[in-house]
Amino acid sequence: MAADMTPLIVPDTVIPAGPEATSWTDVDPTIDLWAEIDRLRKEKNAVILAHYYQDPEIQDLADFVGDSLDLSRKAAATEADMIVFCGVRFMAEVAKILSPTKTVVLPDLDAGCSLEESCPPDDFAKFVAQHPDHIVVTYINSSARVKALSDVIVTSSNAEHIVRNLPADRPILFAPDKHLGSYIQRQTGRDMIFWDGACIVHDMFSERELVKLKARHPDAPVAAHPECHEGILKHADHVGSTRSILDYVVEHPADTVIVATEQHIFHQMQKSAPGKTFLAAPGADGTCNCANCPYMELNTLEKLYLSMVNEAPRVEINEDLRLQALKPLEKMLEMSPPAKANQETKSQNGKGKAAA
Ligand code: SF4
Repeated sequence: MAADMTPLIVPDTVIPAGPEATSWTDVDPTIDLWAEIDRLRKEKNAVILAHYYQDPEIQDLADFVGDSLDLSRKAAATEADMIVFCGVRFMAEVAKILSPTKTVVLPDLDAGCSLEESCPPDDFAKFVAQHPDHIVVTYINSSARVKALSDVIVTSSNAEHIVRNLPADRPILFAPDKHLGSYIQRQTGRDMIFWDGACIVHDMFSERELVKLKARHPDAPVAAHPECHEGILKHADHVGSTRSILDYVVEHPADTVIVATEQHIFHQMQKSAPGKTFLAAPGADGTCNCANCPYMELNTLEKLYLSMVNEAPRVEINEDLRLQALKPLEKMLEMSPPAKANQETKSQNGKGKAAA
């Protein structure tokens, strides 16, 4: 399962808006953006996919809202001509890798990810080359070039399941999230080494402040994302992907739940369980201000509208790179447990078509 170590010489995987693109600040504030986006969605046979960490107004007009695994599956299955990916760059890249004939746009070219940035492909290639006997398991929060150097991609939804099903006699190199990797190691007991990366949002939660919050709400269970450090995870009653946290807080009988993940997910929680109280796990200053992803926040309704008008910024991927990155992504889809029938969030308010 060793990856091809040939250096990848490729252009950037994302091209900027064309000369016809205008700044979001030029968008006429009197335009009904919802109506215009809906018109473009129909006119261009587009599907709008939004991550749970997007602004609520984007979640509400999307055709589908989900976590990375949900959205990868949607991107692979869509019959739309254009995928408008309201998330960060690596997610739009995955959509293009899985659906190369589709036009894939994202509202803001600068919507990156601290995990992706922590793992430069050339350095990662050296790390992989130093451990030739290891199976390379890479979190989906990584660049296409890093994926191309991997044996299998995982998300927080399927990482434990996939790692458990890898050959037991082989050690594992896990990248780029050391916290997710360490959590999977504790769960599975596998022989693993880690790339030293972390999510700037999930790394900021404070164990000290969480303990104080729990003391004030002793009956509230804690649900945490495995990108959090161990100091948070050891206090959690549930550890899982964004989707599994959503299911947990809705199904749990408690009226109040403490949640340690990016706080835009609260929008779906409040819609799914309107009578409950959701408390954000605090950062070191005792507030939840750390729990906003600055990359996800770059996408706005105005930029979404412009990306549909201009069909840019558009993701384009060198075909050799795409094929190398496709292999470990297909392996992930093949090894993932099947999606539950109800494991899909269609926008309640979106006016677009129901199928993608
Ligand atoms: S929340 Fe963290 S892992 Fe997710 S996109 Fe933002 S920086 Fe990346």
